[in-house]
Amino acid sequence: MGGGEQAAAEAETERFMRGLVRRNPGEDEFHQAVHELVQTVMPYVLDHPEYRDAKLLERLTEPDRVVIFRVAWEDDAGNVRADRAWRVQFNNSIGPYKGGLRFGSAVNMGVLKFLGFEQTLKNALTGLPMGGAKGGANFNPKGKSEREVMRFCQALMLELHRHIGEDTDVPAGDIGVGSREISYLFGQYKRIQNRFTGTLTGKGLTFGGSLVRTEATGYGAVYFAENMLNHRDDSVAGKVCTVSGSGNVAIYTAEKIRQLGGTVVSLSDSSGSIHDPAGIDEEKLAFVKDLKEVRRGRICEYAERFGCEYLDGRRPWSIPCDAAFPSATQNELDGRDAETLLGNGCVLVAEGANMPSTSEAVRRFLAARIMYAPGKAANAGGVAVSGLEQSQNALRIAWGREQVDERLREVMRQIHERCLRWGRDGDHVDYVKGANLAAFVRVGEAMLAHGIV
Ligand code: NDP
Repeated sequence: MGGGEQAAAEAETERFMRGLVRRNPGEDEFHQAVHELVQTVMPYVLDHPEYRDAKLLERLTEPDRVVIFRVAWEDDAGNVRADRAWRVQFNNSIGPYKGGLRFGSAVNMGVLKFLGFEQTLKNALTGLPMGGAKGGANFNPKGKSEREVMRFCQALMLELHRHIGEDTDVPAGDIGVGSREISYLFGQYKRIQNRFTGTLTGKGLTFGGSLVRTEATGYGAVYFAENMLNHRDDSVAGKVCTVSGSGNVAIYTAEKIRQLGGTVVSLSDSSGSIHDPAGIDEEKLAFVKDLKEVRRGRICEYAERFGCEYLDGRRPWSIPCDAAFPSATQNELDGRDAETLLGNGCVLVAEGANMPSTSEAVRRFLAARIMYAPGKAANAGGVAVSGLEQSQNALRIAWGREQVDERLREVMRQIHERCLRWGRDGDHVDYVKGANLAAFVRVGEAMLAHGIV
């Protein structure tokens, strides 16, 4: 691209973003996610008058619809609680809406719109027929009893069931919504509808869940990293890796890194990080699974149990590593963290979480030309196996572990190929550009074919 064309694309991006910010005030995360896409696809849009004339970017950044509703329920002490829930049905151009539900006090419209937008692009990258959505509630499950979580999920489904269905919109889990919550939501959905369908994914194995779904996002992120490294005649084996978070994505990222011969030296939660230079082996990981999935405890207990360092209130990015896997939440890795990682020799970042790197951090990774995989590419394994869960439910069969894992590997390989196709720049691969363009063109072509809708 020549200097003049680049300047035109930048000016057009600025103009577009001013309009988007005006139309969506206060939704910072949504602005950030859209800006990240628009700045990479604008040259393509300017080169394709049919995209411009059809106002593709304007239409793609406007959700199909957003449902907002009250969730009233009663806590164990008999107090009435009123929380707010949302379902953002972002885009169903290439398949029924698909995307997780997030519970937490910081959940709001801007966060869910960013996640729904990212989900639309991510789902397109998988090659499977899935549109994009996201939802959730400002309910904080921390410190709630089992019964309170169950009553909340049942109350939420009393309204949500009207808006979802196996051919309409298929929710799944996300932060604060794990297998326990999906089970309560599914139980209530089935009761209201009197139909047993695959309308939620991430279900238990005894009622329609898929093998490998629990592990899929973490495993997929590591398969993607392995693809990036293989492309440079390297591999995960022997790499020292930092992982943030200690939830679903983090745990299975750590497990797969270890299985492929890497060493995981950190995990974290919202209170702090642990640094274990000896590496998190199978026994230690079993402890973390029990701690986080069963006892719902804090990661500082790991440091007490195994006698390693605990970084109170800190993220793990100051720990020297070859590869980093941010797997907790959005904007958990800023420009300074990126500088520290690069200064310590980190050559690969694969995002297990959605948008964990700030715009400044991404800018630094791209400038340093390291292997940097944005979440929409690296963490697409979770939704891919959710798509496979839908297929198994529709066929009323259950595939074996090997079969699902093989398909997951293949989806991650194909996403890597798509990134190469659209993001190769000589010897270097710009995975942000590759992922954005591949996803944008797939959704864009479908939208163009559907006419002005
Ligand atoms: P979990 O709820 O299982 O775990 C989240 C982890 O992140 C916990 O360790 C949590 O710590 C930590 N965390 C949450 N908020 C913050 C914060 N503000 N600061 C620091 N740490 C925080 O969620 P998942 O593992 O499912 O999701 C993690 C990320 O991966 C999210 O960005 C999600 O959108 C993304 N993702 C998840 C997929 C999935 O299949 N689950 C699929 C694709 C993406 P604490 O317990 O203290 O809150």
